[in-house]
Amino acid sequence: MAILGGIEGGGTKWVLGVGTDPDDLQTISIPATTPEETLRRASDFFRAKTIAALGIGCFGPLDLNTASPTYGHITFTPKAGWRNTNVLGELSRTLQVPVALDTDVNASALGEARWGAAQGLTDFVYLTVGTGIGGGALVGGHLIHGLTHPEMGHMPMPRDRDRDPFAGCCPFHGGCLEGLASGPAIRARWGIAGEDLPAAHAAWKLEAYYLAAALANVVYTLSPQRIILGGGVMRQGQLFPLIQQGLFERLKGYIQAPELLDGITNFVVPPGLGERSGVAGALVLAERALD
Ligand code: ZN
Repeated sequence: MAILGGIEGGGTKWVLGVGTDPDDLQTISIPATTPEETLRRASDFFRAKTIAALGIGCFGPLDLNTASPTYGHITFTPKAGWRNTNVLGELSRTLQVPVALDTDVNASALGEARWGAAQGLTDFVYLTVGTGIGGGALVGGHLIHGLTHPEMGHMPMPRDRDRDPFAGCCPFHGGCLEGLASGPAIRARWGIAGEDLPAAHAAWKLEAYYLAAALANVVYTLSPQRIILGGGVMRQGQLFPLIQQGLFERLKGYIQAPELLDGITNFVVPPGLGERSGVAGALVLAERALD
């Protein structure tokens, strides 16, 4: 079986992995410094292994239109220095193997579909809630790309200014989902990082309120069979019952599916692969590049 390479390229760190599946996957983590240094270190790492293909799940926004002159580039990111970085082209050039690129959350969705909490499902959503918020979706067994790729983290949110006067921290939209519910939003609103807030703090009820509202939108638009919530903020396990309950109440019994009525604890779930969904899913991308 061919040895494959996978990258989960985040805004703060890149996880590089080599293997064939999550059981034999060997990973290292490097900081996302400048694009030049990060891509060089990734390239050096994979050149020392003998990989047949590379898959990259990367933060975005990305240009995934194969007909575009900037196909494979990170485009309009607010991350300093990374705008217009040709991730796909640079790693293809230095490694001389087939390379596939998709969003970090689409890669995570592929990993969860193959080995994790979405095995056997054709329609589900993987949402990460961390430094940013993003969603990947399988619909009818296929990842959604369309115009570019979904940007679920930037959906507009219902606002109750008496309950939450915080304006939101998205540089583009202020109070979109990411602007109100990402890790940086929690820190900006409460003045304390989420990991330092107690489990009973009011922050988590508000967090669950926004996430449940977002998941209701996702349920109504994509009709997923399950929603997987990953990312650093979701390490707060107390959020799961709050979100499940909040989603159940919001839907008002309108969608008559047992998964939502009696089975909501199996409908909104953590990733089956824990923190490895992205890098494992990148192997699936690599496999596709090889085909
Ligand atoms: Zn936004």
